Amino acid sequence: MRGEIEHIMKITDLTTAVVRGHGWNTLIKIETDEGITGIGECIHGGGGVTLLLDDMKALLVGENPMNWDMLFEKIRRRYIFDGALAGNVVTALSGIDIALLDLVGKALGVPVYQLLGGKFRDSVRLYADCHAGKDNDPASAAAKAKWVVEQGFDALKFDLDDPSSPDKLDRWNPSASRMEVSRMVELVAAVREAVGPNVDLCVDMHGRYDIAAACEVARKLEPFNLMWLEEPIPPENIAAMREVKLNSPIPICAGESLYLRWGFRDLIEQQAVDHIMPDLPKCCGLTEGKKIANMAELYYIGFSPHNVCGPIGTVASAHCCGSVPNFLVLEWHWMERAHWHELVIADPPIIQGGYLPLSDKPGLGVELNEEAARKYQKPGTLFFGQP
Ligand SMILES: [Mg+2]
Repeated sequence: MRGEIEHIMKITDLTTAVVRGHGWNTLIKIETDEGITGIGECIHGGGGVTLLLDDMKALLVGENPMNWDMLFEKIRRRYIFDGALAGNVVTALSGIDIALLDLVGKALGVPVYQLLGGKFRDSVRLYADCHAGKDNDPASAAAKAKWVVEQGFDALKFDLDDPSSPDKLDRWNPSASRMEVSRMVELVAAVREAVGPNVDLCVDMHGRYDIAAACEVARKLEPFNLMWLEEPIPPENIAAMREVKLNSPIPICAGESLYLRWGFRDLIEQQAVDHIMPDLPKCCGLTEGKKIANMAELYYIGFSPHNVCGPIGTVASAHCCGSVPNFLVLEWHWMERAHWHELVIADPPIIQGGYLPLSDKPGLGVELNEEAARKYQKPGTLFFGQP
């Protein structure tokens, strides 16, 4: 009403909780003077990310959370000389972006995908990251693949690299021995045979090889009709990655350790890959993640985010995946770790038959189970401000 001062919601606090996940995951709670709270999650921040988040709090308190993109950029620029192009600063910001979107969604009564422009799909397809077990042999990989498909997944990933393999000529050298290449081919052949022709299959080399090895493996895996070959060489040399892509009969996917639009720019503009795989709760958050996906779309490059996060970060990633046309598939890494499901209160279950249906509830649409999360608290850390 004229003459009255309109109340604007203000951020009052930011606290964190570190819980066991794929390593240690950091949960972020942002509170406001209206009693509305947002929850975010970031991952792979090492021990430093909670200190950074505590430091960043001063730049958020008193601000209007509705301006979440500006707040991200305000903090990023403040930390520019402290490493704000990659690493822990960006990881902390990624968790803040997710918590702010959850908060704003709750304040407006809309799901997060709506804040990202709305959804292209109702349900986000997942691929299960599978581990063949200690022996990593073709028979156990095939058995695992069959079991995962029985759980309802129609897209799988296996690791091909094994740094402790006795087949390696040298632990440090990035070439691949004859025995290593043969073992990789045997493993993929066994998995393809086990799951049949209609399951999507991708394989990861974790950036541990050189160009010659990458191209040889790609050629030898051609008959198995793979969805992608992931980071056969390290991701930071874009010209080298482009050389691999141009010589590979299999699509190449890379980027789980690149950060922000600037980190992905050359990879995308030089068309050095077929798919990008930003890890949204680590390398950019959802708002920036959508911008990266839109850049990739200009070159017809697919968007298939890396994800080893807990349920908050995974559901957050799914909202971004739902909001871009070039999304292909999202990783899920927790087939055999039951405590993933304990960490949230979700009804119906978050994952259904290899898909993650997007919730229409406000914000992320999933509630952290604090009592359960506390059981997995990292010793010596605060749990949302409490010892
Ligand atoms: Mg990978």
